[in-house]
Amino acid sequence: MSQSDKPDPRHGPPVLIVTGASRGIGAACARAGARAGYRVVVNYSSSRDAALAVVADIEKVGGSAIAIRADVSRPDAVEELFAQSDVHFGKVTALINNAGIGGAIQPLEDMRPEALEALFRTNVYACVHCCSAAIRRMAPRHGGSGGVIVNISSAAARLGGLPGMVAYAASKGAIDSLTTGLAKEVGAQGIRVVGIRPGIIETDILEPMGGSTLVHTVAPSIPLGRVGQPEEIADAAIWLLGPQASYVHGTTIDVTGGR
Ligand code: NAP
Repeated sequence: MSQSDKPDPRHGPPVLIVTGASRGIGAACARAGARAGYRVVVNYSSSRDAALAVVADIEKVGGSAIAIRADVSRPDAVEELFAQSDVHFGKVTALINNAGIGGAIQPLEDMRPEALEALFRTNVYACVHCCSAAIRRMAPRHGGSGGVIVNISSAAARLGGLPGMVAYAASKGAIDSLTTGLAKEVGAQGIRVVGIRPGIIETDILEPMGGSTLVHTVAPSIPLGRVGQPEEIADAAIWLLGPQASYVHGTTIDVTGGR
């Protein structure tokens, strides 16, 4: 077991921040993290009731969680999120960078600059800012004792995205590069950095693309014959955070049903 994967008995149970944990994959990661023994920060942007419901679910089964509102596309909000987490639970030891948006569905040439900026602020800049804030707490040279960062990418990074989602695919390609490069930068400091490329997962993000209609039409083209569920991504994320993945570093795994 590496330094980063070992719970430090001086600091109590490990602390997991999940960005965008009010709904979908993030909510499933928060619940799974609590079941695995983490104290969980349930970050959200606007869905307060949904975030509080995730916290209530965790507390119902004896876990410990707090909902913290922060629009992670804003660097000042990221600093505040991590500062609040410090106060409530102590130094973060695990981070799942999950918050993300699909953005406008349209040909690239029709995309307005503001929409492109909002997409990259949420899907890329937020991830970079959260990695930075986490490293400043996990790295031994900042007084930390290591940690693990899981970046949620997308199969779109490999495939170029569903029709009208080229910019989204490009934003996720940036996440894959971030995972590869950051792993080289911080690995020696006991911080593992890994990623997951989910395939098509049944969450609200699919609504603008047809929701349940898309789920049914796309299923036959997926080798396993169905779309995935948020819990199937969460299980992979919690495995990546844990000691059984202690030598998995600087890589992004596909969880796509074979897509
Ligand atoms: P979702 O159901 O739409 O949930 C998105 C979550 O992100 C919500 O909790 C939302 O919080 C949060 N969020 C969005 N913008 C935020 C911001 N600026 N600050 C903080 N939180 C923010 O989406 P999902 O399908 O679970 O997607 C989660 C991640 O998986 C995304 O990165 C997405 O790109 C990736 N992914 C999804 C699929 C898929 O098919 N579902 C496939 C590949 C990759 P509020 O509710 O408070 O706004």
